[in-house]
Amino acid sequence: MDISVVIPLYNEDESIPELFAWIQRVMTEKGFTYEVIFINDGSTDNSWKIISELCEQYPEAKGIKFRRNYGKSPALYCGFKEAQGDVVITMDADLQDSPDEIPKLYHMIKEEGYDLVSGYKQKRYDPISKTIPTKLFNATARKVSGIKNLHDFNCGLKAYRKDVVKNIEVYGEMHRYIPYLAKNAGFDKIGEKVVHHQARKYGTSKFMGLNRFVNGYLDLLTLWFLSTFGKKPMHVFGFLGSIMFFIGFVAAAIIGGHKLYSLAAGTPDRLVTDSPYFYISLTMMIIGTQLFLTGFIGDLISRSSQNRNDYQIEEEILKK
Ligand code: UDP
Ligand code: MG
Repeated sequence: MDISVVIPLYNEDESIPELFAWIQRVMTEKGFTYEVIFINDGSTDNSWKIISELCEQYPEAKGIKFRRNYGKSPALYCGFKEAQGDVVITMDADLQDSPDEIPKLYHMIKEEGYDLVSGYKQKRYDPISKTIPTKLFNATARKVSGIKNLHDFNCGLKAYRKDVVKNIEVYGEMHRYIPYLAKNAGFDKIGEKVVHHQARKYGTSKFMGLNRFVNGYLDLLTLWFLSTFGKKPMHVFGFLGSIMFFIGFVAAAIIGGHKLYSLAAGTPDRLVTDSPYFYISLTMMIIGTQLFLTGFIGDLISRSSQNRNDYQIEEEILKK
């Protein structure tokens, strides 16, 4: 099979028939073998009825129904698990992404050797309350992830080599950072294609409000931390802790030494506890110990973690 189209959706019944017909048109025109996997993320409208009708009518249509609303990332995760095509395309169900982009995306993966191609909605048809924070968000994501050539991390329209979707785990709200997840898994040929974007035709956006930005940034922080120190917490905390403890210890020794020296020499000196440096060195030693222990506990946890030996193996040649 050439292409799997994975479509997460939440209350999008008005768009589904139109979207499916459009995909069919593009696919038949180009002669692709394909499947379309709809993941109904706990919709409360008629979405599932429409999907099951499509599935009955067309062998290419497939559906997964969540019992409740879990979010876009879990929906993508389940779609990725089912996908069988050599190239996997994700798109939103709201007709904002155009299926006409599929052939070119397919070509970029198949012929130009990209692992992942992200759409770039250069001209967006979204309210300004969304476009400005998005710019900021993308700038940060570019910096943190080190994927410098992406302008639009969160574009719903993306294409993947099959290997990529089978080897990354999208969870929580990590759909915003799939390129970063892919990069961490070792897929580093990540490209971008300018895509057409349309205003939402039916319904309203499912991502509203301020907390999506706050959560977005926190998720980015988690990912950054996991990818840099996730496998070796002791290296960070242990190092910082040791340095702090060392400085504190030396400072305390100097203060104490000075006091002993003046006692022996009979010169008057202030009390050790009157010196501000005493308190600074004390605090440094306490915080140093705590950081060190944090690193140690982090290491203990990662030792007993199930994923401690999850490595990405691309190929194996094992002769027995
Ligand atoms: N979506 C989903 N589960 C959710 C929220 C959204 O599957 O909990 C789907 C939604 O139906 C759409 C896609 O994710 O197909 C993108 O959502 P939306 O268009 O509302 O986001 P926006 O384009 O406003 O960023
Ligand atoms: Mg949308």
